[in-house]
This record gives sequence, C-alpha cells and structure tokens, in this order.
Amino acid sequence: MSQTAPPNSYFPVPRELRYCTQCASPLTRRIPPDDTRVRDLCEQCGAIHYQNPRMVVGTIPVWEGRVLLCKRAIEPRYGYWTLPAGFMELGESSAQGAERETLEEAGLSMEATRLFSVIDIPQADQVHVFFLGQVADPTLSPGLETLEAGWVAEADIPWSEIAFRTVSLTLEYYFSDRRRGSFDVHYAALPPRR
Ligand SMILES: [Zn+2]
Repeated sequence: MSQTAPPNSYFPVPRELRYCTQCASPLTRRIPPDDTRVRDLCEQCGAIHYQNPRMVVGTIPVWEGRVLLCKRAIEPRYGYWTLPAGFMELGESSAQGAERETLEEAGLSMEATRLFSVIDIPQADQVHVFFLGQVADPTLSPGLETLEAGWVAEADIPWSEIAFRTVSLTLEYYFSDRRRGSFDVHYAALPPRR
C-alpha cells in the first residue's frame, strides 16, 4: 500500500459522527490501535465508524452526434447542466448504477458498456466514473431530479453552465477523442478549487 499523501493540500479529517450506529452510544474521536488515521470509535461496543470516499457513476449518452444533458432540478447546482450521474447504490455494479441514474434522470435506457473517465475529487471525498454505451431509442422522459433533458451538439454545449468540473472535463475528453477518432480511458485527480 502506498503511504503517499493525496495529490493536493487537503488534509482528510472525516466529518465527526456523534452516535454509534450499532448501539447508539456517544462516540469518541481518536486513532485506533494499529491505525494511522483519526476515527470515530464506540467505547461501548467497539465499533469503528470508518468513512471512505463515495462513488458517483454516470454515462455519456450520444445520439446522432449529440450528447444528452440534463438540467438539474435539485441542489447542489440547481439549474445547471450535467450528464446523468449519481451515487452508486449497494448491490449494483458501477455500470448498473450509471444505467440506473440515466434511466432515473432522463428516462433513457442505455447500456453502459465502456469505461470512459475516472476522476478523483479528494477534497469532496468522491470518485466520479463515466461510461460510454449504446442508445437504442433517443426518447427522453426526465425524472423528478431533472428540469429538462435534451440532445446537445458540441457547438451548443453550455460550458459556463455545467454543474460539475468532472462533467465538463469528461465532455472535453469526449469531444477531443471524437475529433481524434479514437476513445481512451481517462483518469484525473482534481486539485482543490481556488
Ligand atoms: Zn456502539
């Protein structure tokens, strides 16, 4: 295992938890034996409440050269545009999660067959993963988390109104690869926003 620090100045202090999820006793914050990081521990039942990064999974749906964008009906970034994406759920693969989010947010059935981008955001404790895939039917039916959804040509992408840096970066990778005529898998770790 690597002992190197994250690729930025973020010092990972976890969000403080107050009560044990196992026995409801108040928690103590300290470094457990044989560990190197501060954790929230239960002195009553011994449970250690680890906190780890969360996965956000999504797709880059494409139909006749246009990319599907969804206008967010929820915070954060209400009213801004995004690719369909959301938190991975227990019991699903990352590709299944990406397909589920695409169905929930845009009403689009899509097979997420090809990993395209993996972007770490250490300061937000998240990893965002996007897939390419096949769209059989471009009919959209936006869900409750989406104000509107549409197929957008590259020239019409609202770059200043994209909700998240991981989405604008993934779109940049996509259009750049398409111009080049070959698609890679892209990895990046975002530095903290200044
Ligand atoms: Zn406990």
